Amino acid sequence: MRCLCKQKETKELKVEGDVGADPIWCNRCNCNLDIEEVPISLDLKSELMKWIGKYGDWIDWDIDEIVPNGIKLEDEHNKQGLNLTKQVQQELEGQYMVSFSPSTFARRYTNEK
Ligand SMILES: [Zn+2]
Repeated sequence: MRCLCKQKETKELKVEGDVGADPIWCNRCNCNLDIEEVPISLDLKSELMKWIGKYGDWIDWDIDEIVPNGIKLEDEHNKQGLNLTKQVQQELEGQYMVSFSPSTFARRYTNEK
C-alpha cells in the first residue's frame, strides 16, 4: 500500500472508525488509506464501509453529547469492527499486519463527566 510514510510503502495497517473517513489506516503515520486501493474482497470492503457509516451513532452531534445507551452502542460497534478486522487479517495474511483500534469516545466522555 502506498501512503505518506517515509518509506512510502506500508505493511502495517489498522482498522479504525472515524467520521467521514475510510476504515483502513496506515498504522505507522496514521494516514487514512483509500479503501479502493486495499487488496481485499469487494464484499469485505462493503461490510467495512457499512460499519464505518455507523460510526458515531452513539453521539448526538447537535449537542455534542453521548446518546442514552451510547457506551453500549460503541461497544457493539467495536465488537463488529474487531470481527471485520479478523476477516481483513485473513485476506491479507502474509502480506500485511493488520490491527484494530477500538473507539473510546463514549467511554472517555462518560469518564470525564
Ligand atoms: Zn504511513
